[in-house]
Formats: sequence, structure tokens, C-alpha cells
Amino acid sequence: MLQFEQELKTTTPPQVGKGSGVIEAPADLARFRRISADDKRVINGQTDVNQLVPFKYKWAWEKYLSACANHWMPQEIPMNRDIALWKDPSGLTEDERRLVKRNLGFFVTADSLAANNIVLGTYRHITAPECRQYLLRQAFEEAIHTHAYQYIVESLGLDEGEVFNAYNEIESIRAKDQFLIPFIDILTNPTFCTGTPENDQRLLRSLIVFACLMEGLFFYVGFVQILALGRQNKMTGAAEQYQYILRDESMHCNFGIDLINQIKLENPHLWTAAFREEIQELFRTAVGLEFRYAEDTMPRGVLGLNAPMFKEYLRFIANRRAQQIGIEPLFPGVTNPFPWMSEMIDLKKEKNFFETRVTEYQTGGALSWD
Ligand code: FE
Repeated sequence: MLQFEQELKTTTPPQVGKGSGVIEAPADLARFRRISADDKRVINGQTDVNQLVPFKYKWAWEKYLSACANHWMPQEIPMNRDIALWKDPSGLTEDERRLVKRNLGFFVTADSLAANNIVLGTYRHITAPECRQYLLRQAFEEAIHTHAYQYIVESLGLDEGEVFNAYNEIESIRAKDQFLIPFIDILTNPTFCTGTPENDQRLLRSLIVFACLMEGLFFYVGFVQILALGRQNKMTGAAEQYQYILRDESMHCNFGIDLINQIKLENPHLWTAAFREEIQELFRTAVGLEFRYAEDTMPRGVLGLNAPMFKEYLRFIANRRAQQIGIEPLFPGVTNPFPWMSEMIDLKKEKNFFETRVTEYQTGGALSWD
């Protein structure tokens, strides 16, 4: 007898309920019962992670759709003007060149850290398929961002070794990454799993550091600097790339905040007073690190910007991030010294995008199989 025939004979067939006409599944099939949206959980869920629908977390699905609608690629943006300006000895001041190099020095490796954090860490601990769907899109966007920075470095003919090693060699950049890495390492450790209050808090802490402090704070000195250059009609190609990156990143940050708030809602026991205090302390440390980076990239005033303006700006952003996850603002009374940044974040895809794009995406109808 073939093995599968043997198995068929030894498996108990479903029993027909008396008079009801309904098949009663045997106990070993009970785990295949259909999923109800109410049963889904963002962490420690017991439902099948392969079943995207029925939807429970519509906000995650909506963000996935918006992110896809915002698709862009770095090589669509011409860099000729930036290249000419960079090669012209009087095109930029020494301070402006330092700013560009230190800026890229942080970003060229930052999005690789972010991608690894998602793919090797966060993804496997999140049990809501809608959130996983967004994380897959986000991971690809991190790859596009790393591509964009590499494209700028290559276009300008910068010393690749210097730029890509800045996170080891430049103290102010290294300090930011050293702060982040332990929170990434926890999630990527293959032996780490959620399911106890301590480990669930560890995950939540790492998610807060990643969304509110890395993507939500550590990127912002750099974004302001390059966009300020663009506003003065300098490095306009790089500035346009950063505008698209900023739009993506503000969605990453908002998704992360929604995820954190959903976990809080489903697991209120994790949100203790001691935990909130600890988070506030992390916020303070991160503001300090980002301010050091601002001072290092701008030892003197440049482009109408100076480091003290960033002290105010970073405190303003930190307050906003704290509020978004339900923590008391840490720095009362601060205001936004760069209101123009809000306009940049609200950038619509149509603005500039089609004027400068040089490639077309293939649609299904245009694919060739030759
Ligand atoms: Fe990101």
C-alpha cells in the first residue's frame, strides 16, 4: 500500500452532525477555522499571518496603498546642475561642502540600518498581515533611499570610502548609530521572541526608538540642511531626491506611531509609568545626540542656518513625537523655527515629479516577453 493511502485510511474523516447537515471538523482541523477580524492582534496574534483579509487594521492597508502611489526612483531626477556646481571651485563654500559630505555620511548607512531592522527584526514580531504588507513596502523604500544617496555620491564623484565609513569615523554620526544599534540588535537576535510583558516592552521600546527617534528625529537636521540648499537654488537635484525621501520617511514615522498606539491599545499593561519615564529619558538623549550632529555639520552659520536654531527645532519635533504616542511634551513652550519644512512634507507627487522624470514605468500592457 502506498504511504498516502495508508494515511488516508488512518485519518478520521469529518463527521456529519446528526440531523444538522453541518460537517463537524475533527479536533486536528479546528486550527483551520476561518479567521475573524476581531481575532487579529498586532503582536502575539494567534491567527494565520498569511491571510491579509478580513481587514482589521485598515490604517495600515491605506498607508500601503498611499506608499505605492508615491513610487519614485532616484535616476529619474537629473543631477547635471548639481555636478556642475560641485565641480565649480567657486560654486559652493567650504562650509557648504562639509555640510553635504557630513550629511551624506549619516544617510548613506542609515537606511541600510533601517532596512535590516525591518526585515531581520520588526517584521517577524508583527502578527498583523496588514502591517506586514506595509513593512514590505517600507523595506523596499529604504532600499530606494540607500540607492538615492549612493546615486548622489556617485554623481558628485565623492570619495566613497570616506562617505560610507563616516558612521565609523565621524564621532557625531557614530554616536547616533551607537545609540540605535542595541535597539535593533534586540529585535534581530534569533532567540528573542515576544509573549512576556518584559519582551513585549522591549519590542515596544525598540519600535518607539526606531519610529520616533530614528526616522522621526535623527533624519531631520539632515533634511532641513539639504532642503535649505535647494531653497537657495543650490544642489537642486539632491534637494529633490531628499524631498521624495522626506515624504516617504514621514509616512514611515506615521505608520510606526500608528503601530505603537495600536499595540498600546491592545496591551495597556505594557504602558506603565516607569516605562513612560524611560521613554522620556531616551527622547532627551536622542535630542542631545542630534544637536551634537547639528553642531558638527555646521560649526559656523551656513545657508542662514546655525546650530542653535536646531536646538529649538529638535525640541519642537521631540515634543510632537512624544505627543503622538501619548507622552507629556518634554520641552514646554518651544516653537517651530522652520515652518517651511511643513510645506515640504505636504509635497504632492505631481509637484515637480513629471517635469523631471526621465524614465517611464512599464505597465502590464507594455511588457514585452520577447
Ligand atoms: Fe524609513
